[in-house]
Amino acid sequence: MPQDDRLYRELERRRDALVALTQDLVRIPTLNPPGRHYHDICAYLDRYLGARGFDCQMIRAKGAPADSDKYPRWNLIARREGTRPGDCVHFNGHHDVVEVGHGWTRDPFGAELDGDRIYGRGTCDMKGGIAASIIAAEAFIAAHPDHAGAIEISATADEESGGFGGVAYLAEQGFFAPDRVQHVIIPEPLHKDSICLGHRGVWWAEIETKGRIAHGSMPFLGDSAIRHMGAVLEEIEEVLYPLLATKHTAMPVIPEGARQSTLNINSIHGGEPEQEADYTGFPSACVADRCRIVIDRRFLIEEDLDEVKAEITRLLERVKAKRPTFEYDLRDLFEVVPSMTDREAPVVRSVARAIQTVLDREAGYVVSPGTYDQKHIDRIGKLKNCIAYGPGILDLAHQPDEWIGVEDMMDAARVMALTLGELLLPQ
Ligand SMILES: [Zn+2]
Repeated sequence: MPQDDRLYRELERRRDALVALTQDLVRIPTLNPPGRHYHDICAYLDRYLGARGFDCQMIRAKGAPADSDKYPRWNLIARREGTRPGDCVHFNGHHDVVEVGHGWTRDPFGAELDGDRIYGRGTCDMKGGIAASIIAAEAFIAAHPDHAGAIEISATADEESGGFGGVAYLAEQGFFAPDRVQHVIIPEPLHKDSICLGHRGVWWAEIETKGRIAHGSMPFLGDSAIRHMGAVLEEIEEVLYPLLATKHTAMPVIPEGARQSTLNINSIHGGEPEQEADYTGFPSACVADRCRIVIDRRFLIEEDLDEVKAEITRLLERVKAKRPTFEYDLRDLFEVVPSMTDREAPVVRSVARAIQTVLDREAGYVVSPGTYDQKHIDRIGKLKNCIAYGPGILDLAHQPDEWIGVEDMMDAARVMALTLGELLLPQ
């Protein structure tokens, strides 16, 4: 892929605009939960992109999980046609950010520029990525106004809480249908030299053990659900964890510790409910008649979800065979199958060549340990030609003093703009 001096000049002219756009987006505190200021950020981008020749639609995910009149789930889609038929390249960024948390030394919504860094919640994850993709599109259009196809930019809700009021909703409405959009780049912060091909699968489930309540001074008259759960936990510890450690994946998951099947126990609740914080008395003496855990199983593209579930059922049946009064419920909460785009897919090859040209190094290929909005584009939208590529360091996401580097954003914008050239200009 050749360098494109005209394109680079258009990008360089927009360096200050990139900083200003990032700052404006960060200063709109789109906290999720509960989902604040979604309308404000979509209206801002509607004005911004509308002024640059994009046709914009603001779409509320009416009736989606968490959508309410108090906290409506707003999304923005902007599309700009080229001068001739061709493919559509779509940049999708989530506009929501996670809670601020403690430990900040900067104003989380101040978007302070200090040297090369802009600080604030959402700078890295992922308003810097959204801004970089917008500036890339602007510069590309200015340098090559005669391009083919179309460019789309979307800012979507709720990625941090599953994406159901965002990309999932838009995909259900047909916005990612393969006849409408052919290439999708999600500028999540996975470092400017790496292409994220997809993610592992997820299965969340709740296991409940049952018992019989009795006075705590005579536990032999009851049946402790907590002791039963203890047996389940022991089986997980002694049998399941060693088994999961043997299941390795060919997916290039980062960090490397996630290149195997994993299981987290998200929570445990048993016995009488915890009292309010201002309760000053003691608990009462009871045998626990219920105990619950929520498990978070991350599985590999080599694994089958039915088998992942059957593994847990077999485990519970083994415990039951050892404990005569053991009873349990197993409830599915949530599942996402793994997604991995082929390395030879057109968007992957184009971005890889652009990384080589801009950064003079070979692109890295990674897979995310957790899921992101690609799952909806893949499963609901049926579009496989989708990756995450964007500036920023993933480890900084959700941390105090989150920041994004301006030069990193510029480099990622160069890569994205060259990618547009490869996909939308005659070769
Ligand atoms: Zn993100």
